[in-house]
Amino acid sequence: MKIDSNGSEYRDIWVLAELVGDDIHRVTFELLGVARNLASKLSKVKNREEEVVCVVLGSGLSEESRKRLFAGYADKLIIVDDEALRVFNDNIHAAVVSRLVRKYRPEVLISGATSRGRSVMPRVAVEVETGLTADCTGLDIDEDSGLLLQTRPAYGGNIIATIKCENYRPQMSTVRPGVFKLPEADFSRTGVVVQEELTEEEKVSRLRVLEEQTIEDATVNLSDAKIIVTGGRGVKGPDGFKVIEEFARAIGGAVGASRAAVDSGWISYAHQVGQTGQTVQPKIYIACGVSGQIQHLVGMQSSDFIIAINKDSEAPIMKLADVAIVGDLFEVIPEIVKLVRRDDELKKAV
Ligand SMILES: Cc1cc2nc3c(=O)[nH]c(=O)nc-3n(C[C@H](O)[C@H](O)[C@H](O)COP(=O)(O)OP(=O)(O)OC[C@H]3O[C@@H](n4cnc5c(N)ncnc54)[C@H](O)[C@@H]3O)c2cc1C
Repeated sequence: MKIDSNGSEYRDIWVLAELVGDDIHRVTFELLGVARNLASKLSKVKNREEEVVCVVLGSGLSEESRKRLFAGYADKLIIVDDEALRVFNDNIHAAVVSRLVRKYRPEVLISGATSRGRSVMPRVAVEVETGLTADCTGLDIDEDSGLLLQTRPAYGGNIIATIKCENYRPQMSTVRPGVFKLPEADFSRTGVVVQEELTEEEKVSRLRVLEEQTIEDATVNLSDAKIIVTGGRGVKGPDGFKVIEEFARAIGGAVGASRAAVDSGWISYAHQVGQTGQTVQPKIYIACGVSGQIQHLVGMQSSDFIIAINKDSEAPIMKLADVAIVGDLFEVIPEIVKLVRRDDELKKAV
């Protein structure tokens, strides 16, 4: 939507919620946290109250879920509750969100860069005629203009660009899960609920869902893992990943992989960390045989503590790491696993 001369008819920061069955995807809460910050800054620039509005499309949203969304910093919920929204259908979701955008005119609309967000948001952007910045790694408000500053890697990760959408509304972005920290919930908060109906026209879709299946591998939940052990090209093959898996098992971690390892077919894409994989933020990230190219680093550099095991002391990951172990991973890892197991046995014996 092309903006009018002063832009004053657009307001509020919208977050498109993502439901996983009856639960809410954690990226929704991560985005509500950042939306709260954006709304406060925008309120100052515009000198009026800007709200955080969460748009929820689904079927049978529980009272508990509503409370969690308010506790996670939504001021208002726009809920469209209909059986036709129980199973995700990007045609229907995009049609409803586009109508709501035209009706309420949000200043900003953000969603998770999950497969659903990546499917719905471009459709909405085309429908309402505005821009969309995908896979943002930072969002802020310009203190002079009030414009959304959308930061993301560009040119294969070689530069970090900040993108503004000056003339069209809403300003739309997607953000990958794990990029922003989960805000602390505040269950004393409450808010307003607006119910919207799905129209008969919106229920008509070219997409028909025949069956739902959960693919085992798609559930590799790196975004929730406290410890991640990642293997790169240095593990040398699928058998090398058995060493990584054993290490991960010994210390209660999940298995990650570089794109080089995934592209070589040694492990599935669901494990990939980086610009075109998942963004992760574990307490401990252990990179084994990973060189640390920028496209990998953008997906893991916010980890609390980074350990790298590499034969090459000059590899970029070694400079980023809090602890850099120079050595052959096939010698170093079995030694660490032995120590961890001995430690476990000692603890049991005491
Ligand atoms: C648009 C684009 C998107 C991309 N997205 C991603 C992404 O999402 N994720 C990603 O990871 N990459 C991504 N890449 C690829 C990225 O540029 C690198 O090619 C890739 O990360 C390299 O993977 P690697 O570190 O495993 O392999 P290499 O760079 O080959 O590094 C292997 C490392 O293993 C070490 N090593 C070898 N043998 C041993 C041993 N026995 N013990 C210990 N160390 C050993 C070597 O010293 C070396 O440092 C992307 C690239 C582009 C252009």
